[in-house]
Amino acid sequence: MSGQDRPTVVNVGYRSTNYWVVSAGRSRLLIDLGWPGTMGLMRAMLTRLDVPLNEIRYGLATHYHIDHAGLAQELKLAGVRLLVPEAQVSAIPLMKPFTKPRDNYVDITLDDNVIIPFAESRAVLAKIGIAGEILPTPGHSDDSVSLLLDDGSAFTGDLTHPALAPDANAGVVAASWQLLREHGATRIYPGHGPVRPIGSYSGDRIASG
Ligand SMILES: [Zn+2]
Repeated sequence: MSGQDRPTVVNVGYRSTNYWVVSAGRSRLLIDLGWPGTMGLMRAMLTRLDVPLNEIRYGLATHYHIDHAGLAQELKLAGVRLLVPEAQVSAIPLMKPFTKPRDNYVDITLDDNVIIPFAESRAVLAKIGIAGEILPTPGHSDDSVSLLLDDGSAFTGDLTHPALAPDANAGVVAASWQLLREHGATRIYPGHGPVRPIGSYSGDRIASG
């Protein structure tokens, strides 16, 4: 991959949640899609960080919780096509009950999304100009996925830190981290908090102090 082709990453997040714009030239993909009813805030962040909304051609939610996907439909109405990995199809309608009337959530239509079998994610992303793949990384939720770029950047949403996973879930969480490592992940871009090397997500208990 030449330096010119290496994707750039900008965080346009707000309200303690990261929304990552991955750009390969003018081909841009938004990872995680805003709180419900915050289109004005999203537009303001994009303007401030010099990301033209009309260049964001695609959006991907790491999982369908309201801080990660609540604005999806409004982004679609602004021209963003929604990429939906197969594990997420049934999760989309389950999000609405977690919204309140005052959130001004706009229901996500189901018949106009780009459904992606995991085995085809690399080919779909290549068409967008992005070298990478989408991996199923359940643990925080069954529908959680990660975008892994070929440069080692992994967008993991709320995939639980292995040392913090509840016992009942520890195996699923560990397997997701293992999958990311096997596929070459080196840097973690989480849904909340700073970018960290994957080594800081070991299964050992976090030392206190
Ligand atoms: Zn979250």
